[in-house]
Amino acid sequence: MPLTLRPQEPRTPGARAFLASGPKRLLIDGAWTETARTFETHDPATGVKLADLARAGQAEADLAVAAAASALGRSDWAGMTPAHRAALLWRIADIVEAHADELSELETLDQGKTLRTGRMGEIPAAIAQFRYYAGFATKILGTTIPTSIAHQPAGKQVFAYTRREPIGVVACITPWNSPLLMAAMKLAPALCAGCTVVLKPAEETSLTTLRLGELMIEAGLPHGVVNILTGFGHEVGAALTGHPDVAKVAFTGSTEVGRILIGAARGNLKKLTLELGGKSPAIVLPDADLSLAVPGIARGIFGNSGQVCVAGSRVYAHRSLHDALVNGLAAEANRLPLGHGLDPEAELGPLVSPAQAERVGAYVTEGVAQGAEVAAGGTGFAEAAAFYAPTVLTRTRPEMRLMREEIFGPVVAVTPFDEPEEAIALANDTEYGLAASVWTESLSSAHRMAAAMKAGTVWVNCHSYFSPELPKGGHKASGWGYENGAQGLENYLETKTVCMVV
Ligand code: NAD
Repeated sequence: MPLTLRPQEPRTPGARAFLASGPKRLLIDGAWTETARTFETHDPATGVKLADLARAGQAEADLAVAAAASALGRSDWAGMTPAHRAALLWRIADIVEAHADELSELETLDQGKTLRTGRMGEIPAAIAQFRYYAGFATKILGTTIPTSIAHQPAGKQVFAYTRREPIGVVACITPWNSPLLMAAMKLAPALCAGCTVVLKPAEETSLTTLRLGELMIEAGLPHGVVNILTGFGHEVGAALTGHPDVAKVAFTGSTEVGRILIGAARGNLKKLTLELGGKSPAIVLPDADLSLAVPGIARGIFGNSGQVCVAGSRVYAHRSLHDALVNGLAAEANRLPLGHGLDPEAELGPLVSPAQAERVGAYVTEGVAQGAEVAAGGTGFAEAAAFYAPTVLTRTRPEMRLMREEIFGPVVAVTPFDEPEEAIALANDTEYGLAASVWTESLSSAHRMAAAMKAGTVWVNCHSYFSPELPKGGHKASGWGYENGAQGLENYLETKTVCMVV
């Protein structure tokens, strides 16, 4: 894990112009709006300030929700034909695609991820969300229902049908690990359904969401349909989640904040989708192909420096290949060059902040003090506080905090097992249930293990594979509801039954 921190500048004129364009404002009712209070966002690799951001509170939340509520029934939005809504979503995708290099650079600067992770992975995935849900806009269907209601007036009959209607104003709240993608995963289905949105990005990483706001206006989105409020969770986040005119909250973030939101939603019984934390296991059976498993598991935990909700942080390896797997993962951890995400030589960037790197380090230090052994990594870097070395641990125990809590960093623990039942029990021994992977060449084992895992997604011979058509959600304390696919659209629609005598 060599760290080389070479100074980097954004190359695209778009990213340079956006950064040079001064303090960033809120998007409320189609206008960019200043606030008296501001806060800063920094490049985590260098600590250099990137921009001042508007700090929204209750007053701005009220304005943005009012704008979204007014746009909801306005003819230029509610009256837009499904075909036009589909075309609008497609246009947003095209404009984002035309600015993909610039958005990737901004994401790297603000979040730390490597340019490759953004440009090859997350930005195309965000674009794909808009294209996927563009296809759904013309296919939102109700049903006609033959009823058995008897005794109608002479010559009359009952006719009944359902309408699918937008749920209303949606507050979308996103985390810092994959900002643009998380925003797209909420905006695309919400707009497809005809909802209006107030979007609050994470305070650490707001830049690409703000740039997306500019691009959506360019694409022709009517004013007030999407409003963007930057600021802190306990301020503007709380103002939105407690707001009586917000019908639904679509949240991605930690389980801890998810629990707060359940309380905040009580007032008007807001609908909630909660995409929360994870502690995902990877089970490596004795017949696994290690040439797939080693790089696949390494990508599944070290990718985006482990700041991925589904990161495979607990590996259970059959005893016959445990040592080979540990050696393979350790070799990969030791090989990965760390550096500024814009540096083409870097394969891993920093964590989102020095505080996050310190938090990751504290888990490892505590685990080692309790008997865990370090096979690779296990250190931060004095000269670059937001970096943490990709780390492989052995001899951990299930009760250790690092085995129970989400670390959200590049740290994996490998534990041997003898029987598949033992691996299943260990893997499921967690409050979380977001995802799991199984590595095997046996079709029967693959299906049996997939059924036994208590998780929203099970991968076989891969980890962290996503696509807009694959529903994604958490079991147990990993959340409520699903994003992606037809189920993802359901979150933003409600059913109205119309029953008439005709
Ligand atoms: P976080 O929960 O700290 O913050 C997420 C968002 O919630 C931020 O925008 C924050 O400002 C806001 N927030 C904080 N307190 C709030 C409050 N009281 N009211 C309203 N909003 C509030 O999460 P994070 O640290 O930004 O992101 C990391 C977490 O996100 C991890 O737990 C990770 O697993 C999770 N995550 C889950 C998924 C998934 O799909 N399940 C995807 C990505 C990240």
